[in-house]
Amino acid sequence: MPELPEMENYRTRLSEHLIGKRIQEITITREKSLNVTVEQFRQHVEGQTIVAIDRKAKHLLFNLESGKVLLLHLMLGGVMYIGGEGDAPKRTKQVTFIFDDCSLFLMGLRLGYLHLHSLDQVEEKLRDLGPEPLDDSFTLDAFYKLAEKKRGMLKSALVNQKFISGIGNLYSDEICYQSCLLPQRKVQELTIQEKQALYRSIQAILKRGLTYGGYMDMPVYKGDLLTGQYNQHCYVYDREGELCKRCDSKILKAKVASRKSFFCNNCQR
Ligand SMILES: [Zn+2]
Repeated sequence: MPELPEMENYRTRLSEHLIGKRIQEITITREKSLNVTVEQFRQHVEGQTIVAIDRKAKHLLFNLESGKVLLLHLMLGGVMYIGGEGDAPKRTKQVTFIFDDCSLFLMGLRLGYLHLHSLDQVEEKLRDLGPEPLDDSFTLDAFYKLAEKKRGMLKSALVNQKFISGIGNLYSDEICYQSCLLPQRKVQELTIQEKQALYRSIQAILKRGLTYGGYMDMPVYKGDLLTGQYNQHCYVYDREGELCKRCDSKILKAKVASRKSFFCNNCQR
């Protein structure tokens, strides 16, 4: 499932191409992806200009000139592509936004959704999300306070969206690796130095993910060479049996808090 760096990469790429553009037409082949009927959706969206694209946790928010917001969550398997019918991937498109010079295709939306809301409704929907880890307000002190109350394993804390926004299965493993902590560790047993290392790693790994354009396989548009580069730069994720870049031990895979997790049992403590 795309995490903060992937969604932020989408936000940047989509913003470059779509801000200020008018949605001429919208095609929907999967009504279940919506929270209203196709007819209502088209009524509110067609003819509207996209004025801003924001990201909150793993969601994208398309702000329309009417003040309405389209709230997108790709969930597992969802991808986006900007282009023409000629270069678009040969896959079923659940939603297609048609602009005068390109289209935005949404594919693989099995559990993913695109909901139409007012600004107030969106705020209500996203109210329970934890802090954004790359925001200025997410200081070391704020993190200490947050971690103080947290029980359970590090792995489950990091992927908990109410604890911190935007981290999922891949980056939680990378963060644990970078901070030399095992994902099985209990949050309440971490020392102050370990919490500090964890805080620094959360920011460093998410920024590293952004630098390499996240891990999504598919480019966002033809000629997009950045998106997906993180796949070649993973420290531990999906590298079971390969050697640790820090100590040359074999990377292990195990279920931690009922999620698959990759780590080095030698240099992570
Ligand atoms: Zn190691």
